[in-house]
Amino acid sequence: MAYDPNNIFARILRGEIPCNKVYEDDHTLAFHDIHPQAPVHVLVIPKGAYESMNDFSERASDAEIAALFRAVRKVAGMVGVDAEGWRMLANVGANGGQEVPHLHLHVFGGRRLGPMLTKPVA
Ligand code: AMP
Repeated sequence: MAYDPNNIFARILRGEIPCNKVYEDDHTLAFHDIHPQAPVHVLVIPKGAYESMNDFSERASDAEIAALFRAVRKVAGMVGVDAEGWRMLANVGANGGQEVPHLHLHVFGGRRLGPMLTKPVA
C-alpha cells in the first residue's frame, strides 16, 4: 500500500497540526499521545515516510533505524519511567490494530501495565 502523505502524523511532521513534543532529532520526533492509555504514553515516530515496521525495516537507513530505537530509550529516560519499567509497542496493519498509517512506537509507563494482551485468542 502506498504511503498516505495526509495521515495525521505526516501532518504533525509538516507542522500543519500541533503536538505536545517530548523529543526531536534529525530522524525522529516524539510526542504525547492525545488519548493516553497509561500515566505515560508517548509516541516515537521516524521523520521519513514509512507506513509501518514492515517498510521501515526494509527501506530505512541504518542511521534512521538506530535513531528511532535510541530515541525510544532516551524518551523513556526523559519522562522518568526507565527505573520502574515501561513498555514499547508497535501495532502493524489490520490485525495489529494500527490506526495511523505512519510507523509509531508507543512508550507506556507510570503504572503496572498488566498482561500484554487483554482478550483471549478467538
Ligand atoms: P495505533 O492504534 O497504534 O495506530 O495508535 C495510534 C495512536 O495515535 C492512538 O493511541 C491515538 O490516540 C494517537 N493519536 C491520534 N491522533 C493523534 C494526535 N493528533 N496527537 C497525538 N496522538 C494521536
